[in-house]
Amino acid sequence: MAKDEVISLPARRVVCSSDESIDINVLACDPQHHNGAVSPPIYQSSLFTFNSYDEMLSRFRGDTDQALYSRVGNPTVRVFEKKIAQLERAEDAIAFSSGMGAISNAILSRVQSGDKILCIKHVYPDTYRFLMGLCRRFSIDVEFVDGSDLDAVEIALVGAKIFYLESPNSWMMEQQHLSAIADLSRAQGVTTIIDNSWASPLFQKPLTLGIDIVLHSASKYISGHSDTVAGVVASSQANMDIIRQQVSPYLGAKLSANEAWLLIRGLRTLKLRMDQHQRSCLAVIEKLQQCPQVSAIYHPAVNSSNYDSLQGYGSLFSFKLTEGLEVANFCNALQIFQLGVSWGGYESLVIPAEAVVNQQAQFNSAKDFGVSCRLIRLYIGLEDVDDLCSDIQQALVAAQAH
Ligand SMILES: *Cc1c(COP(=O)(O)O)cnc(C)c1O
Repeated sequence: MAKDEVISLPARRVVCSSDESIDINVLACDPQHHNGAVSPPIYQSSLFTFNSYDEMLSRFRGDTDQALYSRVGNPTVRVFEKKIAQLERAEDAIAFSSGMGAISNAILSRVQSGDKILCIKHVYPDTYRFLMGLCRRFSIDVEFVDGSDLDAVEIALVGAKIFYLESPNSWMMEQQHLSAIADLSRAQGVTTIIDNSWASPLFQKPLTLGIDIVLHSASKYISGHSDTVAGVVASSQANMDIIRQQVSPYLGAKLSANEAWLLIRGLRTLKLRMDQHQRSCLAVIEKLQQCPQVSAIYHPAVNSSNYDSLQGYGSLFSFKLTEGLEVANFCNALQIFQLGVSWGGYESLVIPAEAVVNQQAQFNSAKDFGVSCRLIRLYIGLEDVDDLCSDIQQALVAAQAH
């Protein structure tokens, strides 16, 4: 099969080296607020009491933001939220018990029955199921568009309430021109929401490009250790107030103080980890490009779009084996890469698209999700990169065996 889909890598980016955004107190902790502790206390308390009648009343009037009840706010969780807000250049952030909690809260804060949601193609599969399964059940119309086609986007935006983005998107890793989309959407009064999990808040800051609301599955790079499921939404104060006052207390997908503490710990090494993920991923891709068993690679470093939004590369990408090679043989032959969902931690992972695509059948709309069953997704973790490359090489050879 022709290798024409594989193009050579652009010059490697030197990333984040002088990022003024990385104020050490954002990634580390705020010792002055916790008796000098470099790690904040875990406020393992469901409720917080008041010293007096007046104090309680002023809290309920909204005159203070004193901790009240951990479903609506917790001091450890608040430390995490403030750090994410700073990293994303947002006025405020709210943490959730999962990325899907962040996604459902953000979307439901903007729509009601009869509204239309516009969404890019190849969105994260569970986001797809949320839109197609739940939102449609409440008479919310959902339409999908190729996010890289600005003409199609402009037409599809008509009548939409929100435009839901993921750049790069899931499996195909296609980017969207964020500043152009922000302009088009704003002109039509459409709120833009983006899932920024792939790039992390270090490598892409969508709010600075005019996107309205940014969210993450913090289970991925932000946690960094595959030991937490969490999510976070960040935006302007006005947008966050809508979620905080009208949605999140009642959907109840609150983050626990324990998990917030793990996320705060993860943030301290986010820059170190992201730099290493990027280096290792580009090295693996360079090797893959020389392999005759590989017919296509899907990663923004390869399928460059010349958009300005990425300041660095995440280490999640897909590729296709050449015709005749066995995906199952490849996956089974890997020794270091483990078969598993999710990503963002230490361990490198592999997942065949077939496992995910088959689950879309219930909506009978493979064209909307539409990725080839022959795709394989790799997540490049933090193991030695030469070991990772050798592992892939031997598995590619094994994929040829019959
Ligand atoms: C994992 C993931 C999610 C969902 O996050 P959870 O924390 O698993 O709920 C959303 N978007 C992307 C891009 C993801 O990878």
